[in-house]
Amino acid sequence: MLEIKGLNVKLEEEDKQILKGVDLSVEAGTVHAIMGPNGSGKSTLSYVLSGRDGYVVTEGSATLEGHDLLDLEPEERAAIGLFLAFQYPVEIPGVGNMTFLRTAVNAQRKARGLEEMNATEFLKLIRQKAKELQIDADMLKRPVNVGFSGGEKKRNEILQMAMLEPKMCILDETDSGLDVDAMKLVADGVNALRGAGRGFLVITHYQRLLNHIQPDVVHIMSDGRIVKSGGPELALEVEENGYGDILSEVA
Ligand code: ADP
Ligand code: MG
Ligand code: MG
Repeated sequence: MLEIKGLNVKLEEEDKQILKGVDLSVEAGTVHAIMGPNGSGKSTLSYVLSGRDGYVVTEGSATLEGHDLLDLEPEERAAIGLFLAFQYPVEIPGVGNMTFLRTAVNAQRKARGLEEMNATEFLKLIRQKAKELQIDADMLKRPVNVGFSGGEKKRNEILQMAMLEPKMCILDETDSGLDVDAMKLVADGVNALRGAGRGFLVITHYQRLLNHIQPDVVHIMSDGRIVKSGGPELALEVEENGYGDILSEVA
């Protein structure tokens, strides 16, 4: 599904290398978690994959189902099925949440050669998905994320994901700022989308999210590289001992 090889990335504005040879392969139908200390490059990886400006790929490749991601515009990456739930969701004043989602869903469908979803169909679907995430009707009418609480913004990211049904979902610290109940809702939302050949990259600081979203593989990222990979037990090890032991072991 997602194949990253020797990815090296530096900032455009200054000569600072952030990613230093990331290798990662996410098979269809699997959930991979990335953990790692602050500043290790987790968000940068998600930004570079989704096409954010300001980064230069100096070496390596990233493909989604064989498509060269790095050669595509952000919206083209989305159209072939890549989705990023932001660590810091953006507020978009003046754009209604529902309008935003309907436009996105239909653009996506068009790119996949499907017919537009009609208004009735769309309303029915979004109401059902919103209800599952306990997002009330009022939040659907408001401008995207404007005045939403931290937790509401994160749940809104998952609503977007549920509506767009991407093939490869990247969640960047979607659990940060969530209370336990909201985290459970988010996890349920992710679990509902699991399978069906979909891949997940779940970036998180804490093991607690992984109690609800059982990963197949856990990676530890440090200083721009994946330094260790293993099963779910690796996340438990981090929870118990922090990153210190793992990092000195690989050093
Ligand atoms: P993480 O998500 O693992 O906490 P980030 O990807 O946000 O890490 O950041 C990795 C490193 O790159 C940090 O040292 C951060 O300060 C630096 N960095 C990322 N983007 C920028 C930027 N636009 N300008 C300056 N430094 C940046
Ligand atoms: Mg961080
Ligand atoms: Mg980050």
